[in-house]
Amino acid sequence: MILHNFYFKNNHIRNNQYMQIVTVLLFMLASFFLNGCGGKDYLTIAVNGSDKIIKVYSISGGIGDAWLLETTDEFFLIDAASSGTEDDILKQMKKLGDKKLKLIIISHAHFDHYGSAAALRRKTGAKIAIHKDDAETMAKGETPLKHVRGIGGNLGKFFLSVGEKIWKHEKTEADILLTDGTDLTKYGLNAKVMHTPGHTAGSITVVVGDNAAFCADLFSTRGWTRSQNLYADNWDDVAESFKKIQAIDVDTFYPGHGTPISKEKLLKLKVSKD
Ligand SMILES: [Zn+2]
Ligand SMILES: [Zn+2]
Repeated sequence: MILHNFYFKNNHIRNNQYMQIVTVLLFMLASFFLNGCGGKDYLTIAVNGSDKIIKVYSISGGIGDAWLLETTDEFFLIDAASSGTEDDILKQMKKLGDKKLKLIIISHAHFDHYGSAAALRRKTGAKIAIHKDDAETMAKGETPLKHVRGIGGNLGKFFLSVGEKIWKHEKTEADILLTDGTDLTKYGLNAKVMHTPGHTAGSITVVVGDNAAFCADLFSTRGWTRSQNLYADNWDDVAESFKKIQAIDVDTFYPGHGTPISKEKLLKLKVSKD
């Protein structure tokens, strides 16, 4: 938990850290009411139907989550959660064994997805990859929420604007720029990138092996299962991209927040029109 990290990293807490804690608490409270409580997961996914498997772990970073993927030889991350989560991620990897973190794939440039990426790169030497259309935002350490819907969206935007004044997110330069169709096999992961813009201009879905798709914030299962209905760069693109992921021929769909769902469940979700 972020709060824990603040406490144990410093014996004396400076004033602005109190403010950070208050902000995090407010944000977590808001996201709890909006999304409910996220759970931890351990799953395995087969690659190409062979006996070669990739193990998937969910690491909760309070506001954001990270998916840790373990192959036979290496670790990969899909998202890096909020800043302050790096030690939890490193601890989880250490528990699993002595493998190298090869690549951190950021699904989109929102702080709850790239927050710990730069710290992890410093500690492990892993490269950071993001779609080219979100790279500049991440490099500035920003989290733009262009269009919001409903009380939830407005509350989130309010907390973010207050929070960003006192809780700065690390400016994170990308090492690798992704585009639609980028094949990640060359980095050691049997996966392909699909450009699924809307929530942000450079949002991606990562299709791993032949039975898993990581769709980031196109849907959420925290609290209840729903398609993205709070924040968008472009709502029409959200609807288009949602149709795109519904057409992916895999069994399991992983959200940016929450636990995975089956294709059957994903097909039942509608994109909100209001
Ligand atoms: Zn997001
Ligand atoms: Zn998110």
